[in-house]
Amino acid sequence: MKKARPAARAARDHGEIAVKGRKRLKIVLFTGYACNNNCLFCIDADKRGLPQKSTAELLREIMRARNRGAEVLEIIGGEATIRPDFVRVVAAAKRLGVKDVVCATNGRVFADPAAAKRIIRAGVDALIFSVHGPDARVHDGLTRAPGSFAQLRRGLANLEALGFRGMNGNTTVVKQNMAVLPRLARFYARHGVENVEFIFVDPNYGGAKNAFGELVPRISDAAPYMREALAVGRRAGMFRWKARYVPLCHFTDCLDQISEVNERNLFQTEHWAPDFTNSDAVASRAVVSRKKTARCRGCLLYDDCEGLWVEYLKRYGDSELKPVKKLGAGDSARLRLAKRGRRRWR
Ligand code: SF4
Repeated sequence: MKKARPAARAARDHGEIAVKGRKRLKIVLFTGYACNNNCLFCIDADKRGLPQKSTAELLREIMRARNRGAEVLEIIGGEATIRPDFVRVVAAAKRLGVKDVVCATNGRVFADPAAAKRIIRAGVDALIFSVHGPDARVHDGLTRAPGSFAQLRRGLANLEALGFRGMNGNTTVVKQNMAVLPRLARFYARHGVENVEFIFVDPNYGGAKNAFGELVPRISDAAPYMREALAVGRRAGMFRWKARYVPLCHFTDCLDQISEVNERNLFQTEHWAPDFTNSDAVASRAVVSRKKTARCRGCLLYDDCEGLWVEYLKRYGDSELKPVKKLGAGDSARLRLAKRGRRRWR
């Protein structure tokens, strides 16, 4: 039998598939901004009062997404799972043949075994649990919903008992949890969560903008903890874990684990929200929401990097950016691998 070439083998170990030159259309369908948590950093903190989409509206949008050829439908809120029509919406998407139906959730609904069973039976392919701390003190402190961590854990256990394999994790990195990211990484590893993103908080809007000083860490303080969390994952055999929304100069030893390095080549991502639509969310983020600065001139990673959040630069400036003049052979190889790889849905 022919042996796998090293690059192909590495791509396989990262859970990625060779690129065939075509972007996948991913529609992020916002159901509305109502939520049963009240996260301090929530980007939608100022939008809670906006009306929820109706069931009919969602079903029409799912049909339109299918007709447009969407391969990935990511259903998000607020918290989409608290809607009485959530199972119906998921089932409709699967019945219409959307390949990957994904839902980002705070996980609390899954504490009810019957609800967990109904949602899995509707055909959801992947769930992204938002876990913001390794224990109730940190997680509930950020969600401002006492008992939310206990419910999330019960939800995880119920899904494990049902044999559900599409479990993923998201963690928003803020001052309050950055030091415990390695412990949270061990929590994810213990639960066998193979896709995790450690997401540097977005302070352009919502809760993190309103309470910037309380929540937003310096990237030079957060990056070592984020890199250590990725290393915990690698030691546990989890090579798909990623950091998101970070300047690459703080992550040169793990360039193959940065979400935005390759997603622009892999997905055409549209956002369909109650109050806006965005027909190229990835490109507009790089142009409007994040910035590189004059300090970045001559940096070897310039073309692959999105820099820092605009609001971050306004408040903290750019003194932490350190243009990369030289990359080790291993770092360059990891960057090439990341750009070639293809992820299934994020
Ligand atoms: S110096 Fe600028 S372009 Fe280079 S990695 Fe840092 S933020 Fe990105």
